[in-house]
Amino acid sequence: ESTHVVVIGAGPAGLTLANLLRSAGVGCVVLERQSRSYVERRQRAGVLDHASTRVFEEWGLADAVLAGTPEDRAIEIRVDGEPHVLDLRALSGGRTGRAVPQQVIVARLMAAFQDGGGDLRFDAGEVTPHGIDGAGPTVTYRDPAGTLHEIACDYIAGCDGHHGVTRASVPAQAMTTYSYDHGIGWFTVLADAPPPRLPLFAISSHGFAAQFPRGPAACRLYLECAPDDVPDDWNDERIWKQARLRLGDDALPAGPITEKGVVEMRSFVADPMRYGRLFLVGDAAHIITPMGGKGMNLAIADADVLARALRAALHDGDEEPLAAYSATCLRKVWNQQEFSRWLTEMMHESGDAALAGSFRRQLARARLDRLFTSEPAARAVADLLAGG
Ligand code: FAD
Repeated sequence: ESTHVVVIGAGPAGLTLANLLRSAGVGCVVLERQSRSYVERRQRAGVLDHASTRVFEEWGLADAVLAGTPEDRAIEIRVDGEPHVLDLRALSGGRTGRAVPQQVIVARLMAAFQDGGGDLRFDAGEVTPHGIDGAGPTVTYRDPAGTLHEIACDYIAGCDGHHGVTRASVPAQAMTTYSYDHGIGWFTVLADAPPPRLPLFAISSHGFAAQFPRGPAACRLYLECAPDDVPDDWNDERIWKQARLRLGDDALPAGPITEKGVVEMRSFVADPMRYGRLFLVGDAAHIITPMGGKGMNLAIADADVLARALRAALHDGDEEPLAAYSATCLRKVWNQQEFSRWLTEMMHESGDAALAGSFRRQLARARLDRLFTSEPAARAVADLLAGG
């Protein structure tokens, strides 16, 4: 069995890449370790930035992916209970994104790929790349019946997330990795409770909190916590009490909590995002904290760059875009890492009770105040949120 590209992993990176390759007329097989229902249920991100919507528009996938999804037009930053709205649509010159849960995008991308005859294999065990530094790589995997398969290919796309097999198959000396621990914890829940009118960031001396819509009848809450907290430290009563306190809203409606977790507030970047004929895409190459909502969007941006480069290599014999793949992606990755870190520092240090009366806290407050008093400063944030 052979194909042009084996895509390992069917998250946002792998499914976007698979659809773009199909549009480009490049053959591919997607191998996913989990079952279809597991992949369809995995709820994480909730915003497609403007740059991601452009990717789907440019590749003729707007109807399949974006249809009916609401615009992400503004955010609220609530400081000690006082609301400030940033009108992202106006500030970014109309470059808004879409508010859409990750699992909706994943389901739509799977449907678009398979309806078009795409080859997507779930429950693929022991997926292993071979010969990535040579001219003829292969990928082996075991199907649910226990049969071992081998697929020969021109290129392998490692879209298997942060803990996948592809980055681990690159010799350590061939890659520089950068890792940063932000020194805080974020406890997060998904709840079947009314979403806020706008994505909401709240700053108070009780700790940072955020509440984001996840579809019309659910929301995700993020509550700053100790880095070593475990989900069991947070019962429902504590969650809603802290949310009300931090959001400054005594009447915040509660609802059944459907998922709890502690998010690792850690960033990671691998450079280069390529080794031989293996290309790393999305979380396989880099992770970013949820602050700023960029993880899924970087995965889609990488997939776009790689699909164009593979089309050039396979259709036109032009390997230059592939040679530039890593540098092209990493420029955007570092820009967004800086933005995410900048937001994290500002949002946390502005409220941090332990920093009360300190120089650092005054600086964080000044940064925040600048967003509400300087239009160029607010426009810079809107530009980065748009995926600039
Ligand atoms: P993944 O989504 O991790 O997909 C990788 C796929 O590969 C999975 O389906 C996995 O099962 C499969 N796989 C793994 N190993 C193998 C193997 N050995 N063989 C075959 N398949 C394999 N991003 C945002 O943009 N905005 C947000 O607000 C946001 N919030 C988040 C909140 C939480 C709680 C979390 C955890 C993440 C959040 N993110 C957010 C990040 C975002 O979810 C990820 O960046 C995004 O899922 C990355 O997509 P990916 O396809 O690269 O990786």
